[in-house]
Amino acid sequence: AKSNGRNGVQRFTPELGKRADERLALSRRMRTALANGEFRLDYQPQIDLETNRVTGVEALLRWRDAELGPVSPATFIPIAEENGLIVPIGEWVMQQACFQAQVWQATLPGLRMSVNLSPRQFARGDIVRVIQHALALAQLPAHLLELEITEGALLHLGSLDVLRALRATGIDIAIDDFGTGYSSLSYIRNFHAERLKLDMSFVRGIGVHREDEVITRAILSLGRALGFKVVAEGVETDTQLAFLRRHGCNVVQGYRFARPMQAAEAHNFILQFNEG
Ligand code: C2E
Ligand code: CA
Ligand code: CA
Ligand code: CA
Repeated sequence: AKSNGRNGVQRFTPELGKRADERLALSRRMRTALANGEFRLDYQPQIDLETNRVTGVEALLRWRDAELGPVSPATFIPIAEENGLIVPIGEWVMQQACFQAQVWQATLPGLRMSVNLSPRQFARGDIVRVIQHALALAQLPAHLLELEITEGALLHLGSLDVLRALRATGIDIAIDDFGTGYSSLSYIRNFHAERLKLDMSFVRGIGVHREDEVITRAILSLGRALGFKVVAEGVETDTQLAFLRRHGCNVVQGYRFARPMQAAEAHNFILQFNEG
C-alpha cells in the first residue's frame, strides 16, 4: 500500500508507523494538524437486525496530512495516546460528533452517535465535564450519545466511578473490541455498559474457523443472558450476517452494509436504507 497518497491509498500503514523516526515525524506533524483543520470524521452506519434500520453511526477519525497524505488511525491514535495529543484531539472529536448528531435529528430523529474514547482520555479527571460541555454546546440529548470504550481503559483506577457518573447523565457505554481484552468475565457486571461490541477478529472467522464461531455464539448468549445488546463489527459477508442473525446478534456494522462515509454521504445512505 505505498503510493503518493493522493489516490486515497494510505502510505503510513500501522506497520510503517512502528519505526521510531517515523513515529517522531508523525508526532511532530500531528501537533499542528488540529489547528490546520486536517482532521475529519467519517460515520459508519449501525444496523439493528430486529427492525432492519440504521439506528446509529460510529464516528471514526480521519487525518490527511498535507505532505504525508492520509494516515490511518490505527497508526496515529497510539502515537497521540503516547504524546498526549489524544486529549485535545479527542475533545474536538466529541464536539464535532455531538454537533453532527444534533444536525441529523431534524431528518433522522433518534439516530445515535457512537464516539471512541481512548484510555488516556478516560483516565483524566475532567472527562465527564468535557463530555457534558460538548453535549450542552451542541444541544444534544445525552441518550443519543454512546461512548465506545475498550476493556483496557476500564482497568484504570477510578474508571468505575467515571462510568457511573456518565451513565447517570444518560449516556450509553459500549465495550469495544469485546473478547480481546484482559478483564475477567465477572468484571463486566460492574461496567454499567449497555452494549458489547464483538471484536472483528471473531467475525472474520465465521464460516472459516470453528473456534471463532464457538466464541461468537458464546459471547452472543452471554450478552443475552446478562442483558447486553451485542453489536458485531467488521461484518463483510452474507455468511457472517446469516450466522450472526441466526444466533441472536442485535446490531451489525461493516462493509457488507456500508463503509465509513463523510457526513453528507452517510446521511443519504441512511435516509435511503431506512426508506426501503
Ligand atoms: P475500532 O473502534 O475497533 O473501529 C473499527 C474499525 O474497523 C475502523 O477502522 C473501521 O473503519 C473498520 N471497519 C469497519 N467495518 C469494517 C469491515 O467490514 N471490515 C474491515 N476490515 N474493517 C472495518 P479505522 O477507522 O481505521 O479505525 C481504527 C481504530 O482507530 C478504531 O478501531 C479505534 O480504536 C481508533 N479510532 C478511530 N477513530 C477514533 C477516535 O475518534 N477516537 C479514538 N480514541 N480512537 C479512534
Ligand atoms: Ca469503536
Ligand atoms: Ca472495535
Ligand atoms: Ca479496535
